[in-house]
Formats: sequence, C-alpha cells, structure tokens
Amino acid sequence: MYCQNCGSEIDQNAMVCPYCGQVNSSSDIIRKKDIKIEEMEQKIAKLEEIVKEGSRSTTKKAGIKIFQPWIFIFPIVFLILFFTLFIILVTIR
Ligand SMILES: [Zn+2]
Repeated sequence: MYCQNCGSEIDQNAMVCPYCGQVNSSSDIIRKKDIKIEEMEQKIAKLEEIVKEGSRSTTKKAGIKIFQPWIFIFPIVFLILFFTLFIILVTIR
C-alpha cells in the first residue's frame, strides 16, 4: 500500500509512514486498537450503568436510615399526647 501523505510504498501493518511520519489510518494494528477502544468504551458504559444503579440503591438505603428516627419518635410523641390527654381529663375531674 501507499502512504496517504507522501505516496511512498509502505507496509500494510506499519502504524506510521517511515518516510514522512504520517499515521497510517488503514493499518491493521490501529484498526485492531480502535476495535479494542470501542470494546473498552462499551465496557466502561456498562460499568457506569452499574455504578449509577448502585448509587441509586445506596441513596434508597440512606433514605431508610434518615427515616428510622421517626419510627422511634412517633411512639414517644403518641405517649406524650396520651399522657397530656390523661392529665387534662384528671384535672377536669
Ligand atoms: Zn509518508
């Protein structure tokens, strides 16, 4: 094959032209690397999705942790209200 820049005959697998230094875009090695980069990008995209799903589930868990004190506060408030009502009823009598 011939170089796209200077027209010199170069090896098919050569990454760069040995005469002018032009990157051989049709090189099999570069093509294979491009395919590998695409595969890596797809894998990264999948990993990002997993990470996003993971962060969603952790925020849900954090939400439960924030909600937990209310489970303890609610019966305490209920007891206070019950006692105040009891005291009011006793004082009225
Ligand atoms: Zn060249």
